[in-house]
Amino acid sequence: MKITTAIFDLDGTLLNTLGDLRDSVTYAVEKHGFPPVSMEQTRIRIGNGVRKLVERSIPEESRTDEMIDTCLADFRAFYGEHMMNRTHPYEGIVSVLETLKENGVTVGVLSNKYDSAAKALIEHYFGNLVHITYGERPNIPRKPDPTSVLGLLDELGGQKETTLYIGDSATDMQTAVNAGLTAIGVTWGFRSAEELRASGADALAYEPSDLLPLFAYGVPDVSKAEKALTDYGFGFRYFETKDEAVSYLRDTCAGKSVSMGGSMTMKQLGFPENFADSTDAHWHWIDKGVYCQMPDIYLSSANGLSETGEIVNIDGKCNRVAATLFGPKRCIFVCGVNKLRPDLQSAIERARNIAAPLNAKRLNKKTPCAVDGRCHNCKSPERICRAMVIHMGVPSGFESCEVVLIGEKLGF
Ligand code: SF4
Repeated sequence: MKITTAIFDLDGTLLNTLGDLRDSVTYAVEKHGFPPVSMEQTRIRIGNGVRKLVERSIPEESRTDEMIDTCLADFRAFYGEHMMNRTHPYEGIVSVLETLKENGVTVGVLSNKYDSAAKALIEHYFGNLVHITYGERPNIPRKPDPTSVLGLLDELGGQKETTLYIGDSATDMQTAVNAGLTAIGVTWGFRSAEELRASGADALAYEPSDLLPLFAYGVPDVSKAEKALTDYGFGFRYFETKDEAVSYLRDTCAGKSVSMGGSMTMKQLGFPENFADSTDAHWHWIDKGVYCQMPDIYLSSANGLSETGEIVNIDGKCNRVAATLFGPKRCIFVCGVNKLRPDLQSAIERARNIAAPLNAKRLNKKTPCAVDGRCHNCKSPERICRAMVIHMGVPSGFESCEVVLIGEKLGF
């Protein structure tokens, strides 16, 4: 489902404001004889408005309402003059906002920072890329109360079903959940992926460009993919984290001979080191050019996976796609959820315009896609796309074939 409205959090999501917040809160508390605040302390203490940041930075024994009000006034006076000293947009975020604008997505910002500062920062760093900004205002409850976000959504003219709420903290995820919006957690901000997942994130973005497929297609539907893949006869397992998936794969591969296709996913999962003690593992990336095409289990990732049950792989030497078609008794496709697309066409589009160009770049190929990240269907001698295989069922020579899908970003 195409998304038409975006509501972003500000601190830790669009802007890295940590340095100026830290300097300002340190100024405010030091003025009253309290210890300075570190960047890490600032990171942990923000997320519930600047009053809470100031309150948490005053030693408990001195934390009276009067002292909080005084330090808050000092904080505001200093921050008003210095809030653009060290603050900067996260790398890639302006480009994402420009793409959203080109695609007609309406963008709002909702912050627990006081209203005038939030508006000044958005105006300075993003100009007309953001349509409406709400900061903290008198008599309106702060996030995670849904009042503000629902008011903003109404003013933006958006519908809940076609809106993404994007933030970096548990407060943000709870705000989206409370408002009935799809919650996207970003991991480049002030909090961890674990915290975002635990507080209700529907999907995670690990870098700003990860947001674009979510706007184009919506959040991947794992249940739909499971049904379609199992209807085709594939086994299917879903693991939220790569650690859980590695544990399953280690148990599955123990005592067996295992071979792998060239795969960044496998590398990120710790292959073959994670398996060396229990598995007879072969990998031509380690034993250069030595192929074991008929192990007990063949492990491959995929360049694209569709919610309609197809598995797409592009290959150059073609050892990888060959082994997923004939030879081993068992094949396991291991994929991060970033590979999942709503249908076959968008899975092929991903394979050609994301996976293949990234691999061409990784391999230093002299192809046009290695330069601009898009497929030109080149006829270059260094072309890495020599075959595209679409699995639409388990090849009949296999005893079993399964998909292990992992709720993290893995591989290309
Ligand atoms: S066909 Fe050529 S341009 Fe297209 S992805 Fe493959 S190598 Fe790159």
